[in-house]
Amino acid sequence: MHIPPATQRRVVIIGAGFGGQEVAKHLAGAPVDILLLDRNNYYGFWPLLYQVATAGLEPQEIALPTRALLRGIPNIQFRVAQVERVDFDRRVVATDQGDFPYDEVVISAGTATNFFGLPEIEAQSFDLKDVPAAVALRNHLITCFERAVGTDDVAERQRLLCFVVVGGGPTGVELAGAITELTRHVMPKDYPALDFAQVQIHLLEATNRLLAAFPDRLGRKAQRTLTSMGVNVQLGVSVTGYQDSCLRFEDGNQLSTATVIWAAGVKAAALATTLPVTRQRGDRIPVTPELQLADRPEVWVLGDMAYLEGPDGKPYPQLATVAMQQGRLVARNLVRKLRGKPLEPFHYFDKGMMATIGRRRAVARIWNMNWSGTIAWWLWLGVHILYLAGFRNRVLVLINWAYSYLTYDRGARAVFATTQRADDTL
Ligand SMILES: Cc1cc2nc3c(=O)[nH]c(=O)nc-3n(C[C@H](O)[C@H](O)[C@H](O)COP(=O)(O)OP(=O)(O)OC[C@H]3O[C@@H](n4cnc5c(N)ncnc54)[C@H](O)[C@@H]3O)c2cc1C
Repeated sequence: MHIPPATQRRVVIIGAGFGGQEVAKHLAGAPVDILLLDRNNYYGFWPLLYQVATAGLEPQEIALPTRALLRGIPNIQFRVAQVERVDFDRRVVATDQGDFPYDEVVISAGTATNFFGLPEIEAQSFDLKDVPAAVALRNHLITCFERAVGTDDVAERQRLLCFVVVGGGPTGVELAGAITELTRHVMPKDYPALDFAQVQIHLLEATNRLLAAFPDRLGRKAQRTLTSMGVNVQLGVSVTGYQDSCLRFEDGNQLSTATVIWAAGVKAAALATTLPVTRQRGDRIPVTPELQLADRPEVWVLGDMAYLEGPDGKPYPQLATVAMQQGRLVARNLVRKLRGKPLEPFHYFDKGMMATIGRRRAVARIWNMNWSGTIAWWLWLGVHILYLAGFRNRVLVLINWAYSYLTYDRGARAVFATTQRADDTL
């Protein structure tokens, strides 16, 4: 792949997500040549992915071409490439598009779904990690209703109308809430012949509470809200396998379902396992407070991939706000390093966390205070519009939300069967 020769120090950034974008943008105009690599040509706003999966938004509304975000920054090159390895000794990033030498490398490849060594689940469940996964889930959910309305077999209909979300973190809670609203407000209008009393939505969590990262009170509030909406929330339940539509549990129980959505955990992106480093829980890579590898100061790791403990002794959470703040620090530290100045350690400014459950229902921990209900929901809407990249996307998402709010409808319900990828022929 052609890359113009570098005239200054070469910084290669792996991953153009929340963390990588911040590094790139904050190095604009610095005396370095930046090469930003990502396997996709877009920047995905993952916090709204569940709305794509539940027919609330179109994929394009939560994704923006990376090149559009980097327009006008002269010292950046962007290339779509799957990074396969980083050769620390030769200082080369090896990709499916060729090898790229670096002077400094920033590794910010994010996470992958953690199936905890359950191959049946990995093969047959749905997850929510990227746009194709969200679209596949949306197609599947709608197809379940199409098949259910067309069968006279009661057990088969029950299987098709049973939706199981595994994992009671923010993604699981948001998905369970959104699927419930879809089946409660939207689908009955499309499928008047179906008896919606047959729909079952289960949210399963292995520990004894939902939203473990939130204060206990908000976890309990989320549980009560979901239960009042009709979700069967079960705590202390461990899934052991899933085959032929039969979900099996540790206690020997089984459940017949056509839909298992795995939101039970993440681990560092697969790239982490190819690096010659010791890894922490979830394959995260330990870094110094300055976000470098301890024995390789030219290798920087940040965001979901990095393992760094905060002042409370716990690792920083895998959140967009952490990745963005770390991205800005890496950019600053790279410039300080060039100028021979001492590097700064990472200090996290905790902006809080929030999860939406449904219409005018959310929980949030902001400014050290607990918020729930309508006010938390408005806060959630405001923060997500603010952080969503691109003016066009903000307008489209606002229009979609207003439309859904006023009409109890969701527009994105057309199922497009996946066809051969356009680039397979290249
Ligand atoms: C469904 C979902 C909902 C979430 N909701 C919230 C929320 O509400 N609030 C919040 O704060 N956080 C949320 N998060 C977490 C947040 O998105 C992450 O913490 C954040 O994206 C981490 O940033 P990052 O730069 O480390 O990784 P990412 O933003 O994931 O970026 C990683 C990039 O690396 C690329 N990549 C990976 N492997 C390779 C490779 N081998 N070669 C080339 N490119 C590669 C990917 O394509 C991606 O663009 C959510 C995450 C998910 C999945």
